[in-house]
Amino acid sequence: MGLLSEGSPLSWEETEVLADHVREHGVNQFINLYHRLKDRQGDILKWGDEVEYIIVKFDDEDKVARVALRAEDLLAKLNEKELADPKGVKSLWRPEYGAYMIEGTPGKPFGGLMAHFNLVEANMRYRREEVTELLGKDECVMSITNFPRLGAPNFTYPLAQPRPEDPLSSARSLYFPDEAIFPGHPRFKTLTRNIRKRRGEKVSIKLKVFKDAKTKLPVEGAPPGEPDVVLLDAMGFGMGCCCLQLTFQACNITEARRLYDQLAPLCPIMLALTAASPIYRGYLTESDCRWNVISSSVDCRTEEERGLAPLNKQKFRIAKSRYDSIDSYLSPEGAKYNDVPLTYDESVYQRLVEGGIDHLLAQHVAHLFIRDTVSLFSEKVHQNDNEDTDHFENIQSTNWQTMRFKPPPPNSSIGWRVEFRPCEAQISDFENAAIVCFVVLLTRVILSYQLNFLTPISKVDENMQTAQKRDACRKEKFWFRKSSKTTEQRAAKAQAQAQAQAQAQAKTNGKATLNGGSVAENGNGLADCNGSENGDQEEQQPLTNGSAKMNGHGNTNGTSNGTTNGTNGSSNGADSDHTDTDDEENELFQLLSINEIFNGKPNVFPGLVPLIRSYLQSMEVDTDTHCTIEQYLRFIQKRAAGELITTATWMREQVLSHPDYKQDSVVSERINYDLLKRIQGIQEGKQVEPALLGQGYHSKTKTKDFIPPALQKQLAKNGCCEEK
Ligand code: ADP
Ligand code: MG
Ligand code: MG
Ligand code: MG
Ligand code: MG
Repeated sequence: MGLLSEGSPLSWEETEVLADHVREHGVNQFINLYHRLKDRQGDILKWGDEVEYIIVKFDDEDKVARVALRAEDLLAKLNEKELADPKGVKSLWRPEYGAYMIEGTPGKPFGGLMAHFNLVEANMRYRREEVTELLGKDECVMSITNFPRLGAPNFTYPLAQPRPEDPLSSARSLYFPDEAIFPGHPRFKTLTRNIRKRRGEKVSIKLKVFKDAKTKLPVEGAPPGEPDVVLLDAMGFGMGCCCLQLTFQACNITEARRLYDQLAPLCPIMLALTAASPIYRGYLTESDCRWNVISSSVDCRTEEERGLAPLNKQKFRIAKSRYDSIDSYLSPEGAKYNDVPLTYDESVYQRLVEGGIDHLLAQHVAHLFIRDTVSLFSEKVHQNDNEDTDHFENIQSTNWQTMRFKPPPPNSSIGWRVEFRPCEAQISDFENAAIVCFVVLLTRVILSYQLNFLTPISKVDENMQTAQKRDACRKEKFWFRKSSKTTEQRAAKAQAQAQAQAQAQAKTNGKATLNGGSVAENGNGLADCNGSENGDQEEQQPLTNGSAKMNGHGNTNGTSNGTTNGTNGSSNGADSDHTDTDDEENELFQLLSINEIFNGKPNVFPGLVPLIRSYLQSMEVDTDTHCTIEQYLRFIQKRAAGELITTATWMREQVLSHPDYKQDSVVSERINYDLLKRIQGIQEGKQVEPALLGQGYHSKTKTKDFIPPALQKQLAKNGCCEEK
C-alpha cells in the first residue's frame, strides 16, 4: 500500500449497492492493464521486505506492558524525511491496522546482487533505531506477531474501553476498543464496520485454549457449548497482528506466475518455521500462529455463503475467508494441481476470457472478484478504465492470501511481482533477515534448477492447518513433493556447469553471474531477464571482481503462458515436468517433517538448505557475503532440526516457567510484562537466549563498505537500494 490517499468513505449501504459497479469496472481495468503489460520483458530481480511492528509502553513501577496508541503521531515524524526526499530515504513507513502498529520497508528495493544480502539486517536495524529515537524511555518498538494481552482488560495506553453497545462503534467488540484502530485514515474503521455489516454479525474467532492442570473452564467469554474456546470478536485481533512479507519482481509475467505457484506450497512450511504467536487475549492457546485468527477476523461471508443458511440473497457458497491460502495455481505446470473446485461467477470469467485472458488467469481473477468491495471512497467511484486500476486494486488488495500476484502499477517502472505473505514476524532483526534472505535465495534456486514444489491445492490447505498446531515445527508432518531423480540430476548438472562456467569466467575476468537457469537442459532460446532486452550493454556487466549478480532466469520468455485460452475444462495446462509419469504421481507426495524439508531426507528430497548451498557453490561470493548467508542458513537449519526452538515455543516456555504462572493458561499482566521485557533485551542484543538463537550468536553484518562504489553507481542507476 502506498501512502494512503485521503478520501471520504461511503456508508455500508452506499458501498453495498456499488458492489457490481466495482466488479464490472475492476474486471475491465484488469483486462486493460493485462494487455498493456503482458509483453513487458526484461525486468531485473528486485525484492524487498515489509516488517510490521507494535509500539509497547512499559509501566516499570506497576510492571505492566500495554500497546501504545502512538502510530499516527510517530508516522507523521517518520514520514517527514520521505516527504522531503522521497528517493533518498533508507526506509519507508506506512500505517497498519492498529493504532499501535507501523510498517517499515527499505527505502528502495534490493536488487540482484549477492552483496545485497549484507544490507537487509542492517536496514532492519536502521529502521528500528529510527523509530526508537522518537520513543520515550519507557517505550519500545517490537517486531512481535501478536501482543499477548491484546484485548485483555486495559491493554492500551492511553486506556480506552470497548463500547459494544454503541451503534457508532466500528467494531462493537467486547474487548477491542475502536481507539486501538489506526485513526489517521478512514480505511481501517470503514473496513471494520463494513465487514461486520456484510457478515450480518460480529466476526467470530475461535481458538482452543491450551489446557493446563488448573485451566478454568469455561474460559471467560467462551461461546455456549464450547467451554474451551478463547473467543475473539473483532477485526483488530487479526489485522492487529504483525507479519513479515516479501515482494519479488520477476523478469516477465510468465516468471511471475511460475514463482507464484512454486512458492505457494512453501507458504505453510514457512508459516510453521516462523510460528510466533501462541498467546491471545491473555491466554495460552493450542495454536502457534496468527493465520486462522486473521483469516476469521476479516471473514465477511454471510451465513448463506458460509453454508449455514440456504442460498437466497447471495450467489454462491464460499469455502474460505477473503484472507486465506491461495485457491489456484497460475502456471500451466500448476494447472493439474488445481484440485479444489474454484468458485466464480461464470459471466465474470467469460468476460475475462473474451477479453483475451487465458483460462488460469481468468479463473484466478474471477475468483478474486467473488468478493464484494468492503471499502469504497466517494472520490473513487467513477474511473477511467483505460488508465485507472483502483477498482481492480480495491478487490485485489482485500483478497489477503498467502501469495499475491501483483501486476505492474500504472505509469511506473515496476514490473510483474509476486508477494510472499505467510511468515510471522520474528523478534530479532537477525531472524527476520535470515528468513528474508533464505526465501530470496530459494527463488533463485527454483528458477535456476527448475525445481518443482507443486502440490495439490487441497494438500497445501491441509498443510496450512497443520502448520498452526502447537509445536508443528518439531512435531508435525507436511505434504511435500518428492523430488524426481531428474530434478536432482538437473541440480547436480546445473551446479557442475555453473562451476565450470564460473571458473572459465574467473580466468578471464573474475566475474560470476548467477544465472544457473541457462545451464539446465534447455539452455537455448531463453530470454535473458537481466536487462538485456533494453540493449544497454553496460547494464549487463557486473562491475567488480567477485561481485555476484543474481539474474532472473530463462525458460520464462513470455511465450508459454496462456496455453489454455478460452477453455474452461479441468485438466488443462501442459505439465512441463515430463519426468513425472502418472504412475509416479501417487508416490509423489509424502509426509515430511520440517527438518526433512529443510535439511533433506535420503532418496526423497535433498533439502531446501542443501539445494541453496549447492546453488551457492556455483557462485563466486565474496567472504563477507558468504559469512552473512552462511549464518542465516545455519540458523534456519537448526530451527528446522529442532535444535533451536520457534518463537512460539520459546514464548510458551517463558510463560510456563514464570514464577507467577498458575498452571491455568493465563498470561497475567506481570507475565506479559516480563516476557516483553525479555523480548526487548533480545532484540537489542542484550539478552542471550541460546534456545532461540544459539550460543555464540552475534550478527556479522555491517552497514558500510560492503558494496564497492562503482557497483553502488550501477545500483543507483537500476533504482536499487544502495547503502551510503
Ligand atoms: P504492499 O503493502 O502492497 O505489499 P509495500 O509497498 O508495502 O507493498 O511493500 C512492497 C515491498 O516491495 C517493499 O519491500 C519494497 O521495497 C519492495 N519493492 C518495491 N519496488 C519493487 C520492485 N520493483 N520489485 C520488487 N519489490 C519491490
Ligand atoms: Mg506494505
Ligand atoms: Mg499491506
Ligand atoms: Mg502490512
Ligand atoms: Mg505487503
